[in-house]
Amino acid sequence: MSDLSTSLDSQWEEICTLLKADIGDLYFKNWIKPLRVVDIEDNEARLAVPTRFIRDWVSVHYLQKIQKHWSKINPDVETVDLIILDFPSLKNEKTEAIISESIEPYTEEAQRPPQKTFIISNEQDDKIQGMAALDPRFTFENFVVGKPNELAYAAAQRVSDAKEVTFNPLFLYGGVGLGKTHLMHAIAWQIRRNNPNRRVLYLSAEKFMYQFIRSLRFKDTMAFKEQFRSVDVLMIDDVQFIGGKESTQEEFFHTFNALVDQNRQVIISADKSPSDLEGMEERLKSRLGWGLVADIHPTTYELRLGILQAKSEKMGYHISEKVMEFLAHRINSSVRELEGALNRIIAHSQLVGREITLETTQDVLRDLLRANDRRVTIEDIQRKVAEHYKIKMSDMSSSRRVRAIARPRQVAMYLAKHLTDASLPEIGRKFGGRDHTTVMHAIDKVDELMASDKNFSEDVVFLKRMMEA
Ligand code: ADP
Ligand code: MG
Repeated sequence: MSDLSTSLDSQWEEICTLLKADIGDLYFKNWIKPLRVVDIEDNEARLAVPTRFIRDWVSVHYLQKIQKHWSKINPDVETVDLIILDFPSLKNEKTEAIISESIEPYTEEAQRPPQKTFIISNEQDDKIQGMAALDPRFTFENFVVGKPNELAYAAAQRVSDAKEVTFNPLFLYGGVGLGKTHLMHAIAWQIRRNNPNRRVLYLSAEKFMYQFIRSLRFKDTMAFKEQFRSVDVLMIDDVQFIGGKESTQEEFFHTFNALVDQNRQVIISADKSPSDLEGMEERLKSRLGWGLVADIHPTTYELRLGILQAKSEKMGYHISEKVMEFLAHRINSSVRELEGALNRIIAHSQLVGREITLETTQDVLRDLLRANDRRVTIEDIQRKVAEHYKIKMSDMSSSRRVRAIARPRQVAMYLAKHLTDASLPEIGRKFGGRDHTTVMHAIDKVDELMASDKNFSEDVVFLKRMMEA
């Protein structure tokens, strides 16, 4: 047994060395380093990957290489399989210590085979049956705070660090992909960190219902009730799911009351405020609103930019400011989509081995960008251009003629012509009632300057890309 573990790790180490030489340090660090060897069974070596994204990428790009190297080193290995395993992030230092300790060569003192690591990190989950696995990336440290989510973030932290239950329940709500689940997991991690003995149960409302129905079918509703009522903290995600489901609601209502009565913390998330929940009994709605209700607003440009910076840094990628600004402007739906966009451009850049530019970004994300588009209006253009050149929006229609103001105004007219269907007289009207010949002159002027001044041209192209449909 101990021989096997040692050889397993050293085989993997050897393969890593070969791969590193083959694909280079950067790709190695991004795609291979997160993998962990699990075991070999029936001629199949199994590697654990932390996320589906990495698994898909590795299986397309590196699996064959890994297989080839492996069967050369160990002819018993015919195939390699990648499995997604929930283990706390490798960025989490404490866990990293555990994991790297376990991939050290096996010694007599350390009576612990490497695969044990995963069990250790999930130990707490196993205590409570039905507990959903917590995502290791969803921590407070990884949550970027901005105006739209600062209240929810503060409330989440308060509840995690509180010695006594003050707000009950904490009700977090907001649109899709804005970080509700992330915050819920962060609370669970934090409570565990503060006090590992507190029993925290996190699950989705869907899972709650599923377990409830199961308990009815198997006639063990007592055990079901017991399980929920014995926890210190109950977290139910996406509670809107039980809208219209009467008996589940009834059961949930009782569970909820029992916990609150015993002064146990309850934390709920939903896509709407308690009073706006559909198909929900009045008494439940009103009960849900008793504690602290915190909403997460749609993202702002600043928050999106902050998230992009944090994520690309975390992934060890340098992405130019222009590209990030571009993404923050143009992907204005959910954080989930923003992350998806970032992953896609990084994956693409790795694939073609070239740096990420504005052009490739636009190319790779064409469909996503289109979906995020709303039609640009002349006002949008004026605002954007004014912001860019740091002049006042009102100067777009003022009669001031100093160059520092007239030039941006001309650029805005030029963009209005290229990005909207407005006619020259219409454009003129929107710029303080100017004549269409003035607009024409502006367009010519901008064309002329773009041909002669490279910096100016880059600016205009950048602005255009920012707003283009
Ligand atoms: P919701 O549950 O509200 O639909 P999630 O919590 O699943 O949304 O968030 C979607 C994705 O966006 C997750 O990968 C999450 O980590 C990320 N995310 C959302 N908000 C933030 C934030 N403020 N900082 C960092 N990541 C975020
Ligand atoms: Mg969610």
